[in-house]
Amino acid sequence: MSGTQTAIEFLKGVGPERARLLKEELQIKTFQDLLHFFPNRYIDRSQFHSINKLPQNNSEVQIKGKITNIEYIQQKRGKRMVARFEDDTGVMELIWFRGYKWIRESIKLNQDYVIFGRLNWFNGRANMPHPELEIEVNFQNKLKAAFYPIYPSTEKLINKGISQRIIQKLITHLIEKDGEAFKETLPNYLLNHYKFISKSKALKEIHFPRSQKDLSRAQSRLKFEEFFYMQLQLVLKNIQRKKKNKGFVFSKVGSVFNVFFKEQLPFSLTDAQKRVIKEIRNDLGSGRQMNRLLQGDVGSGKTIVALLIMLIAIDNSFQASLVAPTEILAKQHYQSLLELLQGSQIKIRLLTGSTKPRERKIMHQALQTGELNILIGTHAVLEEKVQFKNLGLAIIDEQHRFGVAQRAKLWEKNKTPPHVLVMTATPIPRTLAMSIYGDLDVSIIDSLPPGRKPVKTSHLNDNKRLGVFAFIKEQIKEGHQVYIVYPLIKESEKLDYKDLMDGYESISRGFPQPQYQISIVHGQMKPENKSYEMKRFVEGETQIMVATTVIEVGVNVPNASLMIIESAERFGLSQLHQLRGRVGRGSDQSYCILMSGPKLSQEGKTRLETMVNSNDGFEIAEVDLRLRGPGNLMGTQQSGILKLKIADIIKDNKLLKAARDTANQILKQDPNLERSDNQVIKRTLSSLSFESNIWNFIS
Ligand code: ADP
Ligand code: MG
Repeated sequence: MSGTQTAIEFLKGVGPERARLLKEELQIKTFQDLLHFFPNRYIDRSQFHSINKLPQNNSEVQIKGKITNIEYIQQKRGKRMVARFEDDTGVMELIWFRGYKWIRESIKLNQDYVIFGRLNWFNGRANMPHPELEIEVNFQNKLKAAFYPIYPSTEKLINKGISQRIIQKLITHLIEKDGEAFKETLPNYLLNHYKFISKSKALKEIHFPRSQKDLSRAQSRLKFEEFFYMQLQLVLKNIQRKKKNKGFVFSKVGSVFNVFFKEQLPFSLTDAQKRVIKEIRNDLGSGRQMNRLLQGDVGSGKTIVALLIMLIAIDNSFQASLVAPTEILAKQHYQSLLELLQGSQIKIRLLTGSTKPRERKIMHQALQTGELNILIGTHAVLEEKVQFKNLGLAIIDEQHRFGVAQRAKLWEKNKTPPHVLVMTATPIPRTLAMSIYGDLDVSIIDSLPPGRKPVKTSHLNDNKRLGVFAFIKEQIKEGHQVYIVYPLIKESEKLDYKDLMDGYESISRGFPQPQYQISIVHGQMKPENKSYEMKRFVEGETQIMVATTVIEVGVNVPNASLMIIESAERFGLSQLHQLRGRVGRGSDQSYCILMSGPKLSQEGKTRLETMVNSNDGFEIAEVDLRLRGPGNLMGTQQSGILKLKIADIIKDNKLLKAARDTANQILKQDPNLERSDNQVIKRTLSSLSFESNIWNFIS
């Protein structure tokens, strides 16, 4: 048998029935799949326990000793066989409920045995049902691996008799017979450079390591390889995209930009903003389509970056568009851009779902003649009837609300796709961004404008509510405004809604009119009522905004200095961080109070503590990632990150970076992989691509 693609059915000891189970339960279809089915943990079989020091739980242990007696005990149905097992420190029982006839015949009394199995405790005494038994001399002779591999399994497999031992046996067969599977997959120069062991050694050692050291070196070699080919594919894809998608050349920075920059920009840019604009500028002049992700924490100043590059588009006779996920946000963008552009010749308009047909018509026309320079809007911008004369740049704010398909819609508006900048305030750790947005370039604004005071955050128990009310009054007295946010999740919408309304009522009682004015905004309101209430708060007519998370994204009221989050334990970390970002936008000290009940899960506690201790979005995102794993992070669900077999993008961060750098370097020097020492890479890549896989989802 030569091919690693041989169906698993044909492996000795498998057959059609087991093949079906392996395929259904573990997605193992071929020799190759089984060989790359890695243990998820190991038990160290060089370690022995003594009977008087057994762990008081159900762990698996290994003990040396003698069987000194065997008896049968009658039970309700049938009987059980019980062996007395002794070492120098004590006595315990080994128990068999079935199959004991054959076992009894093979057991030799008073011989040195090594037993292995899961402990069971009864009345404070340990026993071991159905242990593995091996005469000690044999054990020593046969000990290939000090570590006993434990593979992921399912209940069904165990019930159908495909035990750990069977899987080990199958893998042993495979390792003994199939030379093809061990073909080297990394070039020699990489093996040398990183001092990696060969593929064949790594595969043997990952299944049957003889020491911790063996295991670690097998793991790093295989993890690197996994990352390396994943990154190669991403980088290749990126190169292809850039080749394929010719982009408009924005060759100059002209008077529109310069005049604004010199005369109208109300502050000087932070270094981070300058750096990011430079990165974007490079893309715009390159002749290839830009596809860039701009990450910046809430309040880091993404809007001005967006405006400046839209001005560059206009300088090069192109139109630009900025799309936001909600009407409120789009409006806010529109207003702040209008303000910034006051006195300039630039024509800018807002298009949303509630734009009147008559206005729309005028706008459509102005877009087609090119008279309109900048269109701000919501999804409405993506509609087919909205046609630009020459859309050169599309900016999408808060991208996770938009799907990939919607991004693509913007492209269809031109023969040549516009440059695309996606802005997000959801910090994604760089490592993760690199892996999932392999086809996007990433820019990061990693510092806030000067003079911001970090928001002071505390976590209070619900019974401290009176104190909180007093604090609200204090803030309002100083002329500030306050947000009070309630959770609203789909599954318990009705209950949540009731909480919100109860809360609103008690706040109304605590803060009576006319001294206090309260806005309320929630998802069940009509859009026009919503924006009316929003508007009153934004304009300072109301001091308190009671809301569900509709205010989460982007709302900017610099005068608001206090954010109170009710049932804070029910929010995710990134959501809490987004919400807190609504305050601390002015020059005064701001506060965030996280309210919760007394009972918190461990994870809930960690989330709230993290918020209290950190204001750094990237740090918070890292904790979030650790708590929830990459699979739950925004945008990663379909990215296939979870399909990594052995590497972990968080824990094996350093290897990921090494793999990424290596992949980049190799493709830079040898873009078509023509060099003879890169043939092994080329071959491995092409054998991967038929697994037509996750890469189809990305971009
Ligand atoms: P976000 O990145 O969350 O969209 P914004 O663009 O809304 O942040 O900016 C937040 C606030 O910071 C705005 O009021 C903006 O005018 C201000 N701002 C942006 N850049 C600077 C800067 N370099 N110096 C001072 N203030 C700035
Ligand atoms: Mg913003």
